[in-house]
Amino acid sequence: MSEEKFTDERKGLCGGPNPDDGRGLESDIASVQEAARVLHSASYVLISTGAGMSAESGVPTYRDKHGVWRDFELYSERGLNPAEIAHIDGFERDPHLAWGFQETMRALMHRAEPHAGYEVVRAWLQQRFRDRSFLLTSNIDGLHVRSGVDKHRMWERYGCIWNLSCLARCTDEIWREERVPLFEVDPQTLRSADIPKCPVCGGPARPATQLDHDPGLIKDPIGAARYQSFLDRKPDVYVVIGTTLWFSWPESVQERPTVIHINPSEETHQRYDDALAITMGAKDALIGMEWMLSRLDKSESS
Ligand SMILES: [Zn+2]
Repeated sequence: MSEEKFTDERKGLCGGPNPDDGRGLESDIASVQEAARVLHSASYVLISTGAGMSAESGVPTYRDKHGVWRDFELYSERGLNPAEIAHIDGFERDPHLAWGFQETMRALMHRAEPHAGYEVVRAWLQQRFRDRSFLLTSNIDGLHVRSGVDKHRMWERYGCIWNLSCLARCTDEIWREERVPLFEVDPQTLRSADIPKCPVCGGPARPATQLDHDPGLIKDPIGAARYQSFLDRKPDVYVVIGTTLWFSWPESVQERPTVIHINPSEETHQRYDDALAITMGAKDALIGMEWMLSRLDKSESS
């Protein structure tokens, strides 16, 4: 199966629009309206995005049923397991194969375009809420930055695929590398012709993203500090979009915020008690909420 086909087949499955065509439509609209009302009167808003947000832009997910760890025919038909290849040990064992996988993912992420929901998130962060908002993302594809979110309003908690660091960690520096591809990948063996090097020690470089059992990830200390500083202001609304990761508030948050939980998979809502659940894809839910918010703005000013 080609990469194109792989991407297309994931659309609508991993966080895509709700395939439900009519069932529960009224309750979906009511949820979106209620979420807009909550946002309209919010003091501080924390937005969290995960794989479902990116999936609607064509970036395959990693962990779910059809994610690349379990169902990536390009690799499985060659008897290769991406989860082992992209493991931190995989970089030590066979860096050319590990980088071949990275090149494949970088190409998919490079081709992806931020969907209209990204523009809504950008507008909330940069215009509507400004200093009263912050974005925490577990996505490594950089689509929020590409859509225009200022870096001082966000933290990429698992790093960014467009940043590299030293595999041996001779330095804690990270550096930007956006060329695609960095090196050609052999279409049969899926091995990269070469690997990027650390500019300090000359050893292999690695993506500055979270890998499994990874002691070497250099977390962005500035982004983490900004996130903590935002939490100290006690956000009263959390908007959780397209992530099935358990997302809990830290001890510093005394009063539980209102959680707006957006996910097309109904069972994921059970993860949050009392969440305002929206059973829709990220793009449709965000566009709907922004539309309702603009109507509330108008009724307020008239
Ligand atoms: Zn080095």
